[in-house]
Amino acid sequence: MNKTISILGATGSIGRQTLDVVEKLDLKVEALTANSDVKRIEEQARKFRPRMVAMANEAAAQDLAARLADTNIRVSGGAAALTEAATMGGTVVTAVVGMVGLKPTLAAIRAGKRIALANKETLVCAGELVMETARKYGAEIIPVDSEHSAIFQCLRGIRDMEEVRRLILTCSGGPFYGKTWEELAPMTSADALKHPNWRMGPKITVDCATLMNKGLEVIEAMRLYRLPLEKVHVVIHRQSIVHSLVEFRDGAVLAQLGAPDMRLPIQYALTYPHRVESPADTLDLLTCPPLTFAEPDRTTFPCLRLAEEAVKTGGTACAILNAANEEAVKLYLRDKIGFYDIPRLVSRALETVPVVQNPTLQDILDADAAARRQVF
Ligand code: NAD
Ligand code: MG
Repeated sequence: MNKTISILGATGSIGRQTLDVVEKLDLKVEALTANSDVKRIEEQARKFRPRMVAMANEAAAQDLAARLADTNIRVSGGAAALTEAATMGGTVVTAVVGMVGLKPTLAAIRAGKRIALANKETLVCAGELVMETARKYGAEIIPVDSEHSAIFQCLRGIRDMEEVRRLILTCSGGPFYGKTWEELAPMTSADALKHPNWRMGPKITVDCATLMNKGLEVIEAMRLYRLPLEKVHVVIHRQSIVHSLVEFRDGAVLAQLGAPDMRLPIQYALTYPHRVESPADTLDLLTCPPLTFAEPDRTTFPCLRLAEEAVKTGGTACAILNAANEEAVKLYLRDKIGFYDIPRLVSRALETVPVVQNPTLQDILDADAAARRQVF
């Protein structure tokens, strides 16, 4: 296990839970980054004493530098600082939200780090490029997303991916499961932020309500495990106990189960291939609710279908999907648009922004920018 770690997005839901695990594992924190939450990162920096803290926001960096003036912790600001932080420590946890995570992730890969990858938007926009760069530089990418960690665990010891018939990603269904289109249309961000099983950042919580999160995860799974869409299925599983499954060609199905607690997949990404005691709750099969499975409703939740269509189109289509979704979710969180405006705006961006096949990094960045301009 690497004894040193950097955390990109330390103040967020995954970042804070990572620090909880880091404390139990007694790892040395080399660098922490955040966007603008100066108060929280100051507390984290005083407790974990990293060599460096990077703030994406320059004004926040100045404020933090003044607050930490009595320490020997270096504070930097801006995108370059984030990238520098990504090249420190043996393991880099990518827990920033959104496509802004792409360049730092690529920097960590080029530095040959173990990447504990939470930032799924990166794999959605540029998954082929990220995975190819990781192979080239020999960087390990270990998923933190609970479904992908479950699959990673079920695939341990497999010799030939041809033996996999399909992956089955489980989906909680989110706070709006079972509602009709008419009931969903007036739902606000306050309603969407009440997730039944997980406490997460606002963007991913809205993505769970629209099922875009599962769409992004289908693409994430395809990139991580180099599988076509036909081999990645989704089932609704309300209890979030079965974190995902792998069906093999002989019909055997392996699943990973556990209480819904992100500290388990986070810790596994840090300790793999070892398992150690965890602060996460243990699963009690005798008291947990009955486990149920159902087909997702792609008509009432069109975002899942849009993601599946984008990955079929290929090229920059997934970057367009992701960027339009990021911008639409920002508007929804500010109550500027309604629930069904999210798939409408994503769909419009996919129809209007030209798709480039076999894209370079610059093509992906251009597609991302063009899609964002379509969302208003
Ligand atoms: P969050 O909103 O709680 O935290 C986001 C972090 O990113 C914060 O530290 C914030 O300072 C930083 N950040 C935001 N904008 C930034 C910018 N422009 N530049 C630099 N840093 C910026 O989000 P989260 O729920 O922790 O999710 C983080 C990532 O992990 C997302 O990609 C999400 O999809 C993924 N993920 C989260 C969970 C979960 O349980 N929260 C589960 C699976 C995957
Ligand atoms: Mg997930």
